Amino acid sequence: MLEKIEVGRKILKQLNTNSYQAYFVGGMVRDLLLGREIHDIDIATNALPEEVMQIFPKSIPTGLKHGTVTIVEEGVPFEVTTFRKEGQYLDYRHPSHLEFVSSLVEDLKRRDFTINAMAMDVNGLLIDPFQGQAALKSKLVISVGKPKDRFLEDPLRIMRAIRFASQLQFQIEEETKQGILEVGSYLQYIAMERIKSEMDKIMASENPGYGISGLFELGLIQYIRGLKDTRFISLYPKELSELLSKTSDVLLRWVIIFYFLKEEERLFLLSEMKFSKKEQVKINKIFSALTMMQGGIQLIQLKRCLVELDFQSCSKAIEMTWMLGQISEEERLYWQQKLLYTDQDLKVRKIKDLAITGNDLLQFFNRPGGPWVRELLEELFEQVVYGQLLNDPKILLKKSLELKGDQK
Ligand code: ATP
Ligand code: MG
Repeated sequence: MLEKIEVGRKILKQLNTNSYQAYFVGGMVRDLLLGREIHDIDIATNALPEEVMQIFPKSIPTGLKHGTVTIVEEGVPFEVTTFRKEGQYLDYRHPSHLEFVSSLVEDLKRRDFTINAMAMDVNGLLIDPFQGQAALKSKLVISVGKPKDRFLEDPLRIMRAIRFASQLQFQIEEETKQGILEVGSYLQYIAMERIKSEMDKIMASENPGYGISGLFELGLIQYIRGLKDTRFISLYPKELSELLSKTSDVLLRWVIIFYFLKEEERLFLLSEMKFSKKEQVKINKIFSALTMMQGGIQLIQLKRCLVELDFQSCSKAIEMTWMLGQISEEERLYWQQKLLYTDQDLKVRKIKDLAITGNDLLQFFNRPGGPWVRELLEELFEQVVYGQLLNDPKILLKKSLELKGDQK
């Protein structure tokens, strides 16, 4: 992590050497001060995108419209963005110190919350015009400027406030909260992809129940399309937070949310909230596995689960039954281990894996082909899968004779 910052420093230095101002900004400064893991490093500069690209030949113009260029140094991507005011970037080619300071402050001013509106220079000097550090100390999410106006400018910030509160276990400051209460309904105009991305971050946070509770307490659930149209809205059970904290698996946390819905509601929500096709398949498979395990887990169901679905779905379904209190901790470990062994043992997953083929049957019975071959193979397959028959050519042919003997 420190290495990443060192590489970032090199970029700042290089920009400085070329007589440009450059700062670390946003989430990275916040996380650094909090001693949290650093994800991406954002840099703000008075250099124009073209100028940045000249200094760093390996740069990619990822968001020229917003003045953003991505520099990849030592395999790490850095987003370098020209100082901006809301909607435009500031063109101070040869700024005096004062002009420069004002442009950095302008850039910080357009940011959403005071904890995200700090900058740090190459020597680690903090520029904190909105008392972000104090907000970190008092664990508060506070809007930069007038909350209501800032939320109206970009209502996604409403979700972001909840998201940061959930990730950092912060409170939302009173006036900021009031702003949310006043204009929360504007959330309905935000693209679902952006909301889903914030929801995923809430779900991945240490205590997602905290974020979800926030969405309820601030009356926001009703403005999230998909969620608002399901029973979820009236179903918020107290145990939800507790359940969510039993796993750190984001997919399983979503499964917990979906567990409180009817199947049609789940399918509706998955598409309405723009879950990726891959996520949808994964989630639906876990529900299929759960259905198989309803009424208690048995070896035969594990086999069926592995054959019809896949290891991950079955394993997650076992986790889920444990979280729901349907099996004990010992049973959970027992079945997870059993699943692992069964998976290793279970070589027959497709008809193709049988020790005999359709051709073997044709030769054996010496009859013309027809649907009977497939039917017979399917029958043998099922018996092998469910452990009633060994996957051995002699045994399979003997069984075939038993099943089809009269027709030979
Ligand atoms: P993380 O990357 O850990 O999710 P972050 O704070 O870096 O958190 P990003 O979404 O990466 O968040 O945005 C980087 C910075 O850009 C933020 O810290 C904030 O200063 C600013 N920012 C991002 N989105 C907005 C927004 N909708 N309104 C105002 N400022 C924003
Ligand atoms: Mg970021």
